[in-house]
Amino acid sequence: MKKKQDTLIVTAGRDPEANFGIVNPPVYHASTVLYPTLEAVKTRAQPVTYGRRGTPTTFALQDAIAELEGGYRSLLTPSGLAAVTTALLAHLKSGDHLLMTDSVYEPSRQFCDKVLTRYGIDVEYYDPRIGAGIAALIRPETKVIFTEAPGSVTFEVQDIPAIAAAAHGADALLMMDNTWASPLYFKPFEHGVDVSIQAVTKYLCGHSDVMMGAITTTEAAWNETLATHGALGVCTGPDDIYLVLRGIRTLSVRLERHMETGLKLARWLAARPEVTRVIHPALPDHPDHAIWKRDFTGASGLFSIELIPCSEAALAAFLDGLELFGMGYSWGGFESLIIPQYPAKIRTATKWNGTGQILRLHAGLEDADDLIADLEAGFERFHTA
Ligand SMILES: *Cc1c(COP(=O)(O)O)cnc(C)c1O
Repeated sequence: MKKKQDTLIVTAGRDPEANFGIVNPPVYHASTVLYPTLEAVKTRAQPVTYGRRGTPTTFALQDAIAELEGGYRSLLTPSGLAAVTTALLAHLKSGDHLLMTDSVYEPSRQFCDKVLTRYGIDVEYYDPRIGAGIAALIRPETKVIFTEAPGSVTFEVQDIPAIAAAAHGADALLMMDNTWASPLYFKPFEHGVDVSIQAVTKYLCGHSDVMMGAITTTEAAWNETLATHGALGVCTGPDDIYLVLRGIRTLSVRLERHMETGLKLARWLAARPEVTRVIHPALPDHPDHAIWKRDFTGASGLFSIELIPCSEAALAAFLDGLELFGMGYSWGGFESLIIPQYPAKIRTATKWNGTGQILRLHAGLEDADDLIADLEAGFERFHTA
């Protein structure tokens, strides 16, 4: 049976018959794995070989994520950032050229600037809105084009199919950080992506208690990814994996609510005099709304706003007194978050065209009207400060 997505979320990676009929997979704690014979030691022809290489607990989540993303296979990493760094190391070598979106998650950028450049890889940032124009930047040494859509602070939605066509025309690999939409609202492999990255820490986990990443690839990109992942020694703990296996079963209902509340907050904020713009791809006035509508099937709960010019004291009065919105990094959990961001300081290929303070919001699963009341009280403090 060809399963629809909400069914897949329930069935992916589960095989109760292999485990006494128990609904969820067991949590295997393992380092040593025994081999029955000398022959088995020499061939390593058994599914589980060593704890670092994964156990049936690991394989259950890897299978589930591969199925949801629509790729060939997946690997887990100890953080979302480790998924980015492992994927890049797997497909780049000294002398290669990497095209990296200027809107990329800042720690991914630091890895490129501080580590990849030391190994002789030429890192070039490009305008996330370049689309098919990326072809002009591709050189014979260009091996990877890295995308993130939308950017997790500034929310440019990249034209993935156009960039994929240019990459594949030049024998380069297209990587995408697909964390914002999760595998539910964007299907990377249907749009030409070769290597898709998830910060599992965010929505797949969904409960703000696990750090994890996943790399999913096409069959063609698999062997090199697997070899480098194995060589780097990155592995993931079974209890964390179990928490994510539990978290993904409710992903469809959680994301729907994150989307609904996020849109309600975004529309309310758009009408506020303290807000100069709301940066949310699902709003019709977003510059990339048409691309989002063409390629994505939903929006998560993460978006940004730009405030009118204000004093630091007014900003602090607004943020410090919030009761429901916590101030902290990461997102994708059940709770609402807000954090100031400074995109103008980070970019090199493009200029951030805004002067007001950017605040990034994550719409959690609280009652939307309570969240609005929290923000409304904040704006009152903003004016009296
Ligand atoms: C959070 C995040 C990451 C990194 O994930 P960690 O698990 O925090 O290392 C990577 N990409 C994006 C878009 C993110 O938001």
